[in-house]
Amino acid sequence: MSTKDFLEKDYYKALGVSKTAKPAEIKAAYRKLARKYHPDANKGDASAEERFKEISEAYSVLSDEKRRKEYDEARSLFGGGFRVPTGQRPGQGGGFGGFDLGDIFSGAGDAGGRLGDLFGGVFGGGGRTTAQNRPRRGADVETEATLSFGDAFDGTTVALRLTGEGPCPTCHGTGAKAGTVPRMCPSCQGSGQSSRNLGSFGISEPCKECRGRGLVVDDPCPECSGSGRAMSSRTIQARIPAGVADGQRIRIPGKGAPGERGGPAGDLYVRVHVKPHPVFGRSGANLTVTVPVTFAELTLGAEVKVPSHRGAPVTVRIPPGTPNGRTFLVRGKGVRRKDGTAGNLLVTVEVMVPQNLNSKARSAIEELREATAGQDPREELLERAKEA
Ligand SMILES: [Zn+2]
Ligand SMILES: [Zn+2]
Repeated sequence: MSTKDFLEKDYYKALGVSKTAKPAEIKAAYRKLARKYHPDANKGDASAEERFKEISEAYSVLSDEKRRKEYDEARSLFGGGFRVPTGQRPGQGGGFGGFDLGDIFSGAGDAGGRLGDLFGGVFGGGGRTTAQNRPRRGADVETEATLSFGDAFDGTTVALRLTGEGPCPTCHGTGAKAGTVPRMCPSCQGSGQSSRNLGSFGISEPCKECRGRGLVVDDPCPECSGSGRAMSSRTIQARIPAGVADGQRIRIPGKGAPGERGGPAGDLYVRVHVKPHPVFGRSGANLTVTVPVTFAELTLGAEVKVPSHRGAPVTVRIPPGTPNGRTFLVRGKGVRRKDGTAGNLLVTVEVMVPQNLNSKARSAIEELREATAGQDPREELLERAKEA
């Protein structure tokens, strides 16, 4: 517990007792509240655990005559409602009011030394109490899913097995063996933070004793060895929309890691891998397909049947004199988009050179060669190559 806590926290209020309460009264109030907010009675309830720590911390100070006196002195000196500024500018603005802390700490003599020590925790790490108790959003989680080409095209629901850390199911997150309870960490007095003084600056770091939890366990839960945390896995059904592409990341809100202290859950991101199709490719919302054609079909023109994905073959009209490698567009036969429209099917024609010719075909091609002997297809190329 840093001395900053002395200034920020109202231990009397935490226990619901007056500043003049007798020790017996404090003890009775503590017992009543500790029973009510005990982690065993509030399994998995993070706010109850926080409250429990708060009560325990208050009691540890107020039940100790010497520390209660220190606490009372600190509070009266700075007027109770003192707040440590949460920014990085100690001594400026905020609850420091008209005080110049520099003066106080540099003050010579006993009082100065004692105060310097007492208030060391004020500097640095300002606001950590606030940040620590604030509800925290769960982390985003990323996972992967591999889909067939067709499932990516149509959209699908996939079962995703997610493994993550959560409260141990055996001890419900308390870390204590059944029938026992955790107690407040004596090293940090339940704050989860320890402070080191470096001259007039204090450094706050997670308490080594309890690893920042504020509670220690004497009889650890055999399942989680006292950490209160356990790896668990859950399976969720994730809807993958139609038309996802390989490498795309799908965001599924609220399916990430659970939040802490009532904070919202994080998001789940699913990175999608799409297996290649033997025939079709993808280019954004378009599907692509390469269709073999003959030299005659390109030269003379033809109507050719080409495959479409999830549908009957479609007919593409090739006009006479079509160059090899030209791409034709078949509207609406691509991937469905979010807005309900669909991409296109891009059909690229590729001349297939026959490997085996019967004698009739061979003589026809030889005739073609003779008939076109006067046309050198490389004439223009050779001419243009001479240009500077
Ligand atoms: Zn456990
Ligand atoms: Zn501790």
